[in-house]
Amino acid sequence: MTAVVEAAPARPLMPVEEALERLLALAEAASISETEEVTLADAEGRVLARELVAGLDLPPWPNSAMDGYALRLADWQGEPLPVSQRIFAGHAPQPLQPGTCARIFTGAPLPEGADCVEMQENAEVLEDGRVRLLETLRISQNVRPKGQETRAGEQVMSAGTRLGPIQLGLAATLGFDRLTVVRKPRVAVLSTGDELVEPGLPLGPGQIYNSNRRLLVSWLQRLGCDVVDAGILPDDLVRTRQCLGGLGDVDLILSTGGVSVGEADYLGMALREAGELALWKLAIKPGKPLTFGHYQGVPVIGLPGNPASTLVTFGLLARPYLLRRQGVAHVTPLQFSVPAGFDWPAPGTRREYLRARIEDGRVRIYKNQSSGVLRSAAWAEGLAEVREGSTPRQGDLVSFIPFSELLG
Ligand code: AMP
Ligand code: MG
Repeated sequence: MTAVVEAAPARPLMPVEEALERLLALAEAASISETEEVTLADAEGRVLARELVAGLDLPPWPNSAMDGYALRLADWQGEPLPVSQRIFAGHAPQPLQPGTCARIFTGAPLPEGADCVEMQENAEVLEDGRVRLLETLRISQNVRPKGQETRAGEQVMSAGTRLGPIQLGLAATLGFDRLTVVRKPRVAVLSTGDELVEPGLPLGPGQIYNSNRRLLVSWLQRLGCDVVDAGILPDDLVRTRQCLGGLGDVDLILSTGGVSVGEADYLGMALREAGELALWKLAIKPGKPLTFGHYQGVPVIGLPGNPASTLVTFGLLARPYLLRRQGVAHVTPLQFSVPAGFDWPAPGTRREYLRARIEDGRVRIYKNQSSGVLRSAAWAEGLAEVREGSTPRQGDLVSFIPFSELLG
């Protein structure tokens, strides 16, 4: 009788959502708690550490939304009104004399006693200087009331808000010149591989230029991180140990390469010796293998080395992880549904992130989707998502994530 040997069932690939959930939980457990105070000029790209509460009403006083004439509606019986004062933006008005109107300009404070503004296009200045109002008016017309945008004491931004031009502008409207932000994460970037050479040097046999280092260093800087650039790490255990030991005080070690199946994985070996290591097989393409571990307590994320895989896994997994370490609540990139401009040949077991563009309202994909081809991403405007098991045809909706959502 022949023994029946059953093949061990292949471990199912980890869905992208699960990998993200795990990474975010790990990030929350290691959130950066130190804060610092910075000026608005230095706050771009940083994360607000405490909620921001308005210290004043906005606007602080009722003001005119138009260039025109301010009056008390009850004073106006249809007769022309004399002009008793002129009020420019930035000047304090006198109380309105009864039975008159005030010339007023956009943003100028409404004088006490006035309750509406007629815009100058609907007013006629007579030869004697009085003003005839040509349209009917209602109370509060063209007036921006005190506190209409914000009331003193209201929360205008929550802790964990990323500060970009709009948020900094908003802080400025409320008079803040300094903000308390989370300390910048310090991230060490390692590029592993004997084949790697830095741009500017000649290529030897079998060598390629190191692209991931530049990609990640530049991207991390945009994300508000301090980068410790650890350069190229040869495929060698002793050098790997030395490199890890010399990184100093960092919040994350981010490596690329050396996580493919069957490769002598020196980073993995070094982590097993002085830390811990988990190898994840993700249902994602490009970018199936991903490492998460710790080296002497410092979290390590190992991204696959192919440049397009590095791009996709950093953008979809490591970026949100880093943002969450800083307390950012909203880490999911905006994505929207766009009709496919392609036919997908066959359902896959991994979720594909295709380097794509939108042309004439349809998603076009780059002709070569190989994970080694970074040019595909330079051509593209974002990632089109083809879910596991699906076969979108021309015109079916697919999810599109613009690079602008991921790169900042
Ligand atoms: P690995 O994960 O080390 O097996 O690398 C997978 C593929 O990505 C190989 O073809 C490597 O040569 C390439 N690769 C790894 N690291 C880099 C890098 N920093 N820049 C460009 N290509 C890389
Ligand atoms: Mg390698």
